[in-house]
Amino acid sequence: FLDSGARMTRGAHHAWAQIVAPGDTVVDATCGNGNDTLYLSQLVGPSGRVYAFDIQEAAIRSASYIVHKGLLPEDTPELTFLQHCHSRMQEHVQPPTNSVKLVCFNLGYFPGSNKDEQESGTRIVTQPNTTIAAITAALDLLQEGGAVSVLAYSAHAGGMEEFLAVQALAGSLPSKQWVVSCTNIVNRTQAPVLFLFYKLQGRNAAKGSL
Ligand code: SAM
Repeated sequence: FLDSGARMTRGAHHAWAQIVAPGDTVVDATCGNGNDTLYLSQLVGPSGRVYAFDIQEAAIRSASYIVHKGLLPEDTPELTFLQHCHSRMQEHVQPPTNSVKLVCFNLGYFPGSNKDEQESGTRIVTQPNTTIAAITAALDLLQEGGAVSVLAYSAHAGGMEEFLAVQALAGSLPSKQWVVSCTNIVNRTQAPVLFLFYKLQGRNAAKGSL
């Protein structure tokens, strides 16, 4: 049995596999424990490039360990771990426009962060203002045919506000250049929602379709 978070993560991975090819450049904007970074590394392969951001040192350490443990050196892409806020991604990803195939966000808390931190309010969680700044930066980095993937949770404090901000950004994008899909689980409460922002390619962009 997969819980709704694991099910949506699996759905996100399935979507990424349709978009990303060996040799691509991709960004994990919230690397956490590194499970998504490892999956992205496998998709781009040794000729690809992966940037992985997290604001917490513990996450960068954990993600780096998981990726290096999960891959043979000869299968490892060019990997850059960055302990920075993802809203600053354009300062670190080179070149900073039209270069990236996929940017993924898995919003919320560092997996495994504990209850004491939750109760004392010291748990670090993604915030609507920096999340929207980061998604906006990510949209600029994308090449045509690329996508930004956002898994948003509404159950925790501040989560609904963040989810609504992502939904509002998605709805504001011009349909000639973007298609944004939204997948949710309708018979579970508190399930995360997957947004996929697809940047259309020239010919399709003119028609406003995928
Ligand atoms: N993708 C991860 C994995 O596979 O384990 C899970 C990500 S977790 C749900 C969300 C992560 O976002 C946390 O590790 C947290 O530290 C990070 N985060 C929170 N605010 C951030 C920010 N402004 N910039 C970058 N990362 C941030």
